[in-house]
Amino acid sequence: MKKDITTDILEEWLNNVRPYAYDGQVANYIPALSRQNPENLAVAIHYIDGSSVEAGETEATFTLQSISKVIALALALMDNGEDYVFDRVGMEPTGDPFHSIYRLEKTPSKPLNPMINAGALAVTHMIHGDTPDEKVGRLLSFIHEMTDDNSIRYDEEVASSEFETSFLNRSLLFYMKQHKIVTGSVEETLDAYTKQCAIEVNVCQLARIGALFANGGKDLDSGRRIIPKHLARICKTFMVTCGMYDASGSFAIKVGIPAKSGVSGSVLASLNDFGGIAVYGPSLDDRGNSVVGLKLLELLSNRYDLSIF
Ligand code: GLN
Repeated sequence: MKKDITTDILEEWLNNVRPYAYDGQVANYIPALSRQNPENLAVAIHYIDGSSVEAGETEATFTLQSISKVIALALALMDNGEDYVFDRVGMEPTGDPFHSIYRLEKTPSKPLNPMINAGALAVTHMIHGDTPDEKVGRLLSFIHEMTDDNSIRYDEEVASSEFETSFLNRSLLFYMKQHKIVTGSVEETLDAYTKQCAIEVNVCQLARIGALFANGGKDLDSGRRIIPKHLARICKTFMVTCGMYDASGSFAIKVGIPAKSGVSGSVLASLNDFGGIAVYGPSLDDRGNSVVGLKLLELLSNRYDLSIF
């Protein structure tokens, strides 16, 4: 199967889905994201044997946005252990939009899962570090280890653009502070979270992260363990149940690969014994998922029978 997926095939498929590049809308509730070009489409596959294939605008960079939630969860689990984290954040999908406050009012003791904003804000709060910059610095070092690439940074303009306009996330944090899920400064947790969401990568770097998860948390070159296997498994399970927000059910049926999307239009997919797949296409559907990303993953999954189900 691996040998079949050549650059030419990926290019051909990108061209097939290109007509959908304007079907949705580029995110604009974070002002700096609205400047993304909907025609910048890219895909990369990084296999667990370390080889890779990619096509499209592979140099285009984008911010992780909600994809960062998976990586932050892995670090928070490593910092605090499962019991501590899951005493404060649940494991159940919500079926609500990612920024919804509705369930938090129903279950004030904890947000339902770490992939919705409320849960992700609580997870960022749990990452060890005395200041927002220390937390984000540790998250970046973790990503440097996962990608073997120390050049990865966060985009300051996107981070401050979100920080200045993030009224819903502030509300979620204040609500959680009232119920003692988070403590301390709301502004500091939001600062760390918006910088985390603004970490900037390209599809090749992102696919390598997916491959590391697919490899059970072991570095692809050295075999060194970067994430404990059972924690990598927990992260991938959340990708299946909640990774595509309130479209996780239909995505599981149509594609069936653990995946996490972000409002920059990127998707990270991770398939055991195969590798990582990253797709970028900034136009989003009404759930906040990349239109082209979903179409491409569906093509790939159907053509090569990749569904885990
Ligand atoms: N930074 C974004 C937010 O909190 C991430 C959301 C997303 O990618 N769905 O609104």
